[in-house]
Amino acid sequence: MTSFLAFAQLCQKVEALSGSLEKIDLVAAFLSGLDEAELSVACSYVMGMLFPPSQNLVMGVGPRILYEALAKACGCPAELISQMLRATGDPGLVAAGIVEKRRPLGFAAFQEALPLTIADVYKRFVAIAHASGKKSQDTKVKNLQFLFSLAGPLEARYIARLAIEDMRIGIGEGSMRDAVARAFSKSGVDAEKVERAYNLTNDMGLVAVNARRGTLAELSVMINHPIKMMLAQLGESIASALGEIGTAAIEWKYDGARVQIHKDGYHVEVFSRRLENVTASLPEIVSAARQITAKSAILDGEAVAIGKDGRPMAFQDILKRFRRKYNVEKLAAQIPLRLFLFDLIYLDGKSVTDLPLSERRTLLEKIAGQNPTSSLLLADHVLSSSVETAEEIYRQALAAGHEGLILKNPASVYAPGKRGKNWLKIKPVMETLDLVVIGAKWGEGRRASLLGSYRLGCQDTASGNLLDMGFVATGFSDESLVELTEMFRELIILEKGMEVEIKPAVIFEVAYEEIQHSPNYSSGYALRFPRMVAVRYDKSLEEADSLERVVSLYRGQRGRNNSIERQ
Ligand code: AMP
Repeated sequence: MTSFLAFAQLCQKVEALSGSLEKIDLVAAFLSGLDEAELSVACSYVMGMLFPPSQNLVMGVGPRILYEALAKACGCPAELISQMLRATGDPGLVAAGIVEKRRPLGFAAFQEALPLTIADVYKRFVAIAHASGKKSQDTKVKNLQFLFSLAGPLEARYIARLAIEDMRIGIGEGSMRDAVARAFSKSGVDAEKVERAYNLTNDMGLVAVNARRGTLAELSVMINHPIKMMLAQLGESIASALGEIGTAAIEWKYDGARVQIHKDGYHVEVFSRRLENVTASLPEIVSAARQITAKSAILDGEAVAIGKDGRPMAFQDILKRFRRKYNVEKLAAQIPLRLFLFDLIYLDGKSVTDLPLSERRTLLEKIAGQNPTSSLLLADHVLSSSVETAEEIYRQALAAGHEGLILKNPASVYAPGKRGKNWLKIKPVMETLDLVVIGAKWGEGRRASLLGSYRLGCQDTASGNLLDMGFVATGFSDESLVELTEMFRELIILEKGMEVEIKPAVIFEVAYEEIQHSPNYSSGYALRFPRMVAVRYDKSLEEADSLERVVSLYRGQRGRNNSIERQ
């Protein structure tokens, strides 16, 4: 049984290193010494992910629950916790400091006799994720309290960070893929094979266990395991995209939100673009999927909210539907969704990802045939190499209130998680950046009780850190500020006068007039006239834009015109 202390020591060493190769080496060496159950847990934990999406488990622990558990475990006043937070800005260090201060004499001997194991921590986290109902808050606090009362300072540091899913050790999917490949290279595993398996299963633990057994190639698409979605690359123009693809499948780019539907007999699960299980929020998508005439299938499509005027409603409205957990039917009446299916990933027990799009589409038409009375719709799909035809379809899509076109290569396979030239999107919108909210400022006057401006960060892919790009304060209605304040209040890590530091969890899509050099921010860049366009609840942190993208947009903007299309 591997102790949690050993895991925490690994994290500490990895955190202290700056080079990713050394980090990968350390993680690989650690993984190769674990048994299967530990391996499966440790792989996810190193990445700061507590449960793979297929398990449909969510921790739901914010800073508040965490500090309550700490205060109770260590019998320390809440005031001390806020003081330490002000000093360190890191919940992990706060937990370590408090546990250190409150450790009873003789604790080391006690811990040696009864060490906390990786399995113990996993068990408690599962109990926390299963907590539901009125007492769920209590259950969460108690389980965390139990862990903190058995933990030494170093363990507490990583228990705290894990609990709020913010590991800060600089290991993302890419480094983890390389570490698993290195740990099991003797069984013929390489990074490409690990990546393929991860894109299919989204479960690094499962991938690592199969890598260890030498059965990686056997992993395939599985029903009820969300698979990474194929993504579209930005096309320069319709003509250049058709030049690239030749005869293309021309589809509308619907203005909605992505859904991946797993139908297994009568049982249906729906996953969002971030692979969250959103089944309970989308009953009409579930009943639409039940009309599919296949025993089992995984389908890819777009959920679109159609307003009374027949046009798509705002993206924010759709996302309200995705986030709603209670009174779903009431909201569904106000914001009804329609499903447009455009791809098929799995059919009756078999993956069809390796079939060309044209064949997948034929199969999709067979099982979701156009029945005008059903709520099942297929995305329009026209095969053509003609620029005029594509332009006409583009005009129709825009006139109907949708985003543009996606031109697809009919011969292409379904490539999970890949953004490539086989799907080219054409949109007539200014470029925007997807940035992470890392802080905020309380407003003044009328808005004194609201968080009125938000500090944005882009990703530094090398270090895994978020780099400051300044504030955005426009693009919000009073109503949306109330909603955002409520949401971010739960994510406040640290208060410094009028400013707060926020746990990175939410992405804003931001428009701007120009990117400028700025020595005032750690990214070295700032946005001129930034304006919040949308809260991208559908995007995960890894999807936030990188400093490289900011720099390349900065360079590209010399002499630019406003018709540059949005990524
Ligand atoms: P973007 O989010 O700008 O990268 O554009 C890709 C997104 O367009 C996909 O993730 C889908 O949610 C959406 N989309 C809308 N219509 C289609 C379509 N016909 N085929 C593929 N994706 C589509």
